[in-house]
Amino acid sequence: MKQLKREQEFGDDPLARRETDNYQNEYVESFVDKWDDLIDWDSRAESEGHFFIDILKERGKHKVLDVATGTGFNSVQLLKAGFDVTSVDGNAEMLSKAFANARDHSFVMQTVHADWRWLNKDVHGKFDAIICLGNSFTHLFEEKDRRRALAEFYAALKHDGILILDQRNYDAILDHGFSSKHKYYYCGDKVTAEPEHVDETLARFRYTFPDDSVYHLNMFPLRKNYTRRLMHEIGFQKVSTYGDFQDKYKDEDTDFFIHVAEKT
Ligand code: SAM
Repeated sequence: MKQLKREQEFGDDPLARRETDNYQNEYVESFVDKWDDLIDWDSRAESEGHFFIDILKERGKHKVLDVATGTGFNSVQLLKAGFDVTSVDGNAEMLSKAFANARDHSFVMQTVHADWRWLNKDVHGKFDAIICLGNSFTHLFEEKDRRRALAEFYAALKHDGILILDQRNYDAILDHGFSSKHKYYYCGDKVTAEPEHVDETLARFRYTFPDDSVYHLNMFPLRKNYTRRLMHEIGFQKVSTYGDFQDKYKDEDTDFFIHVAEKT
């Protein structure tokens, strides 16, 4: 018997959905299946070049925990470059898609199904580095969840470990409106990603696919300096922020910020 596919569910008032657990309803199978069209692996790999690999190698980091595996792009890039990678996601559909994608690239992905807020219940051992990429941290709506997740990431790192976490430039969207060139992450050229509603505690984006199917994500619009402050408050000693993979950049021209937080 064919099982009914789960659809995204935002209820009668989608703008009222401002909860950390939303991500489980948002990444339904049909959306996950289309996700790789949205982020087009080849052009994404071209845009980001060796940025993350260089940061890890320059600091001698080898054992990496990808806490926001999604469909596996970042994990597979690192596996290809010879890193020891463990891949975590709180969403089972994402993780099984990631496993299949890794297999297509001839890797057996080491996966752990875990929510960041309780990461160390399921993830054992300490890591040289944690990556949380593709604008994932934005899924946490409450400050206590953000603090808790960062504390769990901190605890899973070795004494000199680093956390690499990226985010969309929400300051620009909140202060000046949306003007993404769609160059870095949403680079599938047939998919449009645009904000439907933005205020200080919600950025609701609409994703339209070539078959006219429409999906949404409700996200928390992290301001750059707020994220940096939280990282310091959790205990990271140094936080360096890059703009669109450059260390010199103008905030207003930047699509994505990448924070590199160091424990020592
Ligand atoms: N890094 C991948 C990429 O760039 O393609 C995936 C990014 S996707 C936007 C965000 C991922 O974070 C989703 O797979 C989602 O399931 C996961 N996620 C969101 N909130 C989470 C949480 N609280 N715990 C664990 N995973 C979470």
